[in-house]
Amino acid sequence: MIVEAPTAVHPSGPLADAQSQLAAAISTLGFEAGLHDLLARPRREMTVSVPLRRDNGSIEILTGHRVQHNFSRGPAKGGLRFSPHVNIDEVRALAMWMTWKCALLDVPYGGAKGGITIDPRGYSMAELERVTRRYTSEILPIIGPERDIPAPDIGTDEQTMAWMMDTYSVSSGYTVPGVVTGKPVSLGGSLGRSSATSAGVVHIALAALRHLQITPSRATAAVQGFGKVGAGTAQFLSDAGVKVVAVSDQYGALHSSRGIDISGLTEHVAATGSVVGFAGAEPLAADELLELDVHLLVPAAIEGVLHEGNAPRVQARVVVEGANGPTTAAADEILKSRDVLVVPDILANAGGVIVSYFEWVQSNQAYWWSRREVDDRLESRMLLAWAGVLDTAGTRGISLREAAMVTAVSRVADAHLTRGLYP
Ligand code: GLU
Repeated sequence: MIVEAPTAVHPSGPLADAQSQLAAAISTLGFEAGLHDLLARPRREMTVSVPLRRDNGSIEILTGHRVQHNFSRGPAKGGLRFSPHVNIDEVRALAMWMTWKCALLDVPYGGAKGGITIDPRGYSMAELERVTRRYTSEILPIIGPERDIPAPDIGTDEQTMAWMMDTYSVSSGYTVPGVVTGKPVSLGGSLGRSSATSAGVVHIALAALRHLQITPSRATAAVQGFGKVGAGTAQFLSDAGVKVVAVSDQYGALHSSRGIDISGLTEHVAATGSVVGFAGAEPLAADELLELDVHLLVPAAIEGVLHEGNAPRVQARVVVEGANGPTTAAADEILKSRDVLVVPDILANAGGVIVSYFEWVQSNQAYWWSRREVDDRLESRMLLAWAGVLDTAGTRGISLREAAMVTAVSRVADAHLTRGLYP
């Protein structure tokens, strides 16, 4: 079922935040209302029922979405999320952020996102495979290497992408590696893709610390989330000499003023499934992590964790958004007024989609790059975008988020206007 996007937006939540960021950029750019409306709505949405036969023989019907926010600069691109919190408005917001992220980093894509409302921890591998394959087959008409290219996000991984690629390929009658990114390397995935988001977060975090004249080897950091983004971020920060004094996951948080041994913690998480109980640090109340007296705070979990309730108590000098949408619009204003430098998600966590782009290029050409090529090109693209955003913020006297949004929105609008409106 393909439906037109309704315009009503809940007064709070990720979509309201995404809309308010867009409205601010449109007002800075002075664009007309019609163009604003065009950019505010997804171009296409699909909501599907995903019937699942459970291992015990019973049938459960799940709901999945794929939202394609924009195609002006190329095929739609964005992750697939498995989470009990997935809803259409969240997917709309995440799709819109993908459009701006791809435009800001100048990769030739529009933006999309998918999601299934499911807690993957409650399902077997065989059940997750059936869910993934059925969802893929339902959204098959609107995805493809030239249409919309999914990738991992919260609750999905390389294996999920392998199943999607296989389902799409079987239905096409030939192998189509370019239909998804974030695949296992053995199936045409790119070297460096699995750590790309966290590597990118750390390139930006180190640049931001230096910008504030804080020497990384004297800096302290707190990282919220110890999943695909947070764990790598903590490791790379620690490798760069930053003292990571606090980390958390959905089960609990840890603190050590001496700095946490991240390699040891990673082994503990691999063995137990959580950061909780790690002997090298003290337990911490999860909410306190965001309010610690550190130089750098990296929210690398979910949306809306920095809000008007806790933003007045954030003590970090710089917030680098590893997650998508971790700062609400109200918190953004508070942090700005308190001179906390916020590096926005569409810049800070763009490493994942940059290496997804490299993977898609490699898959489509069947020509593989070395790890070194991937890492070097990732770093130079991240730092180029950082320098551009910093320059725009300085020239216009606006925040880094506003500068990133103004750059991204004007690129998308330019592509749209140059192509012209059909008919
Ligand atoms: N899910 C990641 C993001 O939010 C990566 C998307 C992609 O590689 O397409 O940026």
